[in-house]
Amino acid sequence: MSSEDPKLKKLKQVVKGKILIDELLREHTSFKIGGPADYYIFPKDLEDLSNLTSLCQQDGIPVFVIGNGTNLLVSDDGFRGVVVDISRTFRHIKTKETQVTAGAGVSLSGLISFCTIRGFSGLEPLAGIPGQIGGCIALNAGAFGREIGDLIEYVRILDKFHTLEKKTKDELNFGYRTTNLPKGSIVVEAVFNLADGNPKEMERAQNSYIKKRKSTQPLSLPSAGSVFKRPQGDYAGRLIEDAGCKGLRIGDAMVSKKHANFIVNVGVARAIDVARLIDEVRNTVFKRFGVTLEPEIRFLGFNL
Ligand SMILES: Cc1cc2nc3c(=O)[nH]c(=O)nc-3n(C[C@H](O)[C@H](O)[C@H](O)COP(=O)(O)OP(=O)(O)OC[C@H]3O[C@@H](n4cnc5c(N)ncnc54)[C@H](O)[C@@H]3O)c2cc1C
Repeated sequence: MSSEDPKLKKLKQVVKGKILIDELLREHTSFKIGGPADYYIFPKDLEDLSNLTSLCQQDGIPVFVIGNGTNLLVSDDGFRGVVVDISRTFRHIKTKETQVTAGAGVSLSGLISFCTIRGFSGLEPLAGIPGQIGGCIALNAGAFGREIGDLIEYVRILDKFHTLEKKTKDELNFGYRTTNLPKGSIVVEAVFNLADGNPKEMERAQNSYIKKRKSTQPLSLPSAGSVFKRPQGDYAGRLIEDAGCKGLRIGDAMVSKKHANFIVNVGVARAIDVARLIDEVRNTVFKRFGVTLEPEIRFLGFNL
């Protein structure tokens, strides 16, 4: 991208925050996979974000909001448009009794630590999920019978008209790894209703959840967590394992030998390797069990 690029010129006129050009998205994903984004932008504040999304809408520039990149497979060609990173923008945490408000750019682990010290209980089963609040809300992240949506009072979003809006838990209609966020909206902050808890007991609970993760998940290798959603009445991991796919490998992408619903990057896997492996696993499971697995991970930069 040259400095004569007219889109860049306009972005520079409007955006106060930092703009990176041709930023490799593999630097921002837990898979360590993904080509360049034309523009990778850290908006300075809410107004900056609003001006940025407004400009992109006017000029037809595609926008993608990235959280911690822990549920993403980004294509090797990257993304033609603007990737918005709010991790430096919405980092506040405020409390009012046991009601806690967290900016969408706060890491879930950071919020859980904050709450544990102060004895605000509820989020403990989610310890170890590596996302940010915005990404966790967008996907209704969950573990061990708890989903983030269970604890939400309301969420503030920047909608597609670039206006700040409040969405209640009922309006968001949280489901299994789904949230009814209006299309094109960006989560800015979330308000949680937590309960009084004992910090020591909360810490013990978290440690036991994290121990379970460590014993069952391939946490030492890059991945994007569970690849497929849980099908009705079964587990994706069981189906994949029983279909004989554990250890299946394309290039440096491999179905984990530790947890069959994880694909791990054992070296320099390309997105195309992971995508082919996903297809192969889906086809094999379908042929063997007649079950169509639905991906849990999100795809960016692919022609789907
Ligand atoms: C080792 C490992 C373990 C995991 N364990 C779990 C688990 O137990 N349970 C679970 O549910 N998930 C798990 N995950 C997956 C992942 O951490 C969650 O899905 C998490 O919610 C993703 O958050 P993120 O910030 O990384 O989002 P990203 O991956 O960056 O983005 C995911 C989606 O959210 C959207 N998004 C991000 N931020 C915003 C925002 N502010 N506003 C609107 N949309 C936004 C993105 O556009 C994208 O569509 C795991 C992942 C790994 C690598």
